[in-house]
Amino acid sequence: MRRVSAECAWPPGCGQPARLDVLVTVPGEPPRPAMQVGSFCVGHAVIVGIDTQARHGGELWYAAPVEVACCSPARSS
Ligand SMILES: [Zn+2]
Repeated sequence: MRRVSAECAWPPGCGQPARLDVLVTVPGEPPRPAMQVGSFCVGHAVIVGIDTQARHGGELWYAAPVEVACCSPARSS
């Protein structure tokens, strides 16, 4: 498990704090929690989200990194 980065994970490093986690679900796969793409600033989250959706064709999710833990819809059983 990698630590949650406090900064945007955009490859060259944009220096802005990460505000959104980008997650994607892949259609046709067995039900599973959304795959986390990474944490990005708002601007890069949108860019990465569009790019990821273009590649995987799945459903796109944005989540606030801190708040996602309190109300995650993913529950086993
Ligand atoms: Zn960024």
